[in-house]
Amino acid sequence: MGSFILDLLEFVVLAFFLRAMARSLGSRFHFPVFHVRTSGNVPPRPRSTETHQGEMARDPVCGMFVSTELSQKLRHGGETLHFCSRTCLEKFRKDTEHVAS
Ligand SMILES: [Zn+2]
Repeated sequence: MGSFILDLLEFVVLAFFLRAMARSLGSRFHFPVFHVRTSGNVPPRPRSTETHQGEMARDPVCGMFVSTELSQKLRHGGETLHFCSRTCLEKFRKDTEHVAS
């Protein structure tokens, strides 16, 4: 029975060694077999965790597309403009005020 435990131990050591080796190799090139999804390394989600998205509109300041439901809205010249953030909205407002005055 002792040999069985030794075999098991050897297997665990081998598996550990292979994983360590894969990790060191993985830093140099992509190793899809050992590519494990880690739950702790997910980039922060946007404010809303809901997946539903309405229409997408282009932010005229930075050019990125934002959901019209999550965007910062501004009425301008009879149309509603959508901005990704308050910063972009304020920037746009500041720029148009300069032109208008
Ligand atoms: Zn923006």
